[in-house]
Amino acid sequence: MGFAGPTWLDGDNIIEGQVFLNGAYLDGNSSNGEVSQAEFEAVISHELGHFNNLDHAQINGFKYEAGLAPATSVETMFPVLLTVEQRFPAKDDEVALSLLYPTSSFASTTGTITGTIFNLTPGGKMAFTGANVIARNIADPWNDAVSQVSGVTKIPAGVYTLSGLTPGANYTVEIQSIDPSFTQGSSVGPLDPPIPLPGPSEFYNGSNEESTDPPDNPNDYTTIKVSAGVVVSGVDILINTGIPQPGPTPTLVHTATPKPPSGATPTPTVTPREAGPFFHLPRKVLRTKAISR
Ligand SMILES: [Zn+2]
Repeated sequence: MGFAGPTWLDGDNIIEGQVFLNGAYLDGNSSNGEVSQAEFEAVISHELGHFNNLDHAQINGFKYEAGLAPATSVETMFPVLLTVEQRFPAKDDEVALSLLYPTSSFASTTGTITGTIFNLTPGGKMAFTGANVIARNIADPWNDAVSQVSGVTKIPAGVYTLSGLTPGANYTVEIQSIDPSFTQGSSVGPLDPPIPLPGPSEFYNGSNEESTDPPDNPNDYTTIKVSAGVVVSGVDILINTGIPQPGPTPTLVHTATPKPPSGATPTPTVTPREAGPFFHLPRKVLRTKAISR
């Protein structure tokens, strides 16, 4: 359906990029794949994101498929085309663009949370690169959510920074694995293939984050209030390696689930994710057929 990316750099500055869009998806010939105009507009938005050097993101796409998150919250840069609402940038798309091309007031008018993901190994506490880290505003967890993969720049390892947060709002911070199908042109973050978390998805829960006393319940969370122009640092998460998990482990969700917006009583229904075509295999390889076809 498309691929895109920067093609020429001058130091750290992108001076040229390209976007490839496969119009055969709009030619009325179903034998070579077909999408609606609105769906194709979502492809255009997504590829223009790559043109501007955005990576993929994994925040609400699976939640939407499970019937939890609204379509309007699905990030444009989710690797799979799921809804026409991906025509429009979600919060994370906007924040990612703002980090690359900020207005002069971006940093001073938004909040930031940063920390390191650690894994307890026989050799001691080691920084863990490749965890998907998401901050969600507990008052608006689907729409006000920002992510970054830990260690995204590889140096230093395991560090994440979540920017563009709403001043005065309270955020949860959670970790999860990048979906194992997100490889090559559909990769998310610095590792390809992704490395799964050596423990369950879980929330940051403050002084109970250390898994020794009591055993760290992955569904316990401590919210973090952010302020304009302030960086809240040291929000470190220790992966629950080898710790017995209290309570049932959900099987239908890919991540620890914040409470849904008030008034919503969603019933999860699982849609095969292959039902949605991948946008592309960009940057490296072009895939012209939807994955389900
Ligand atoms: Zn893409």
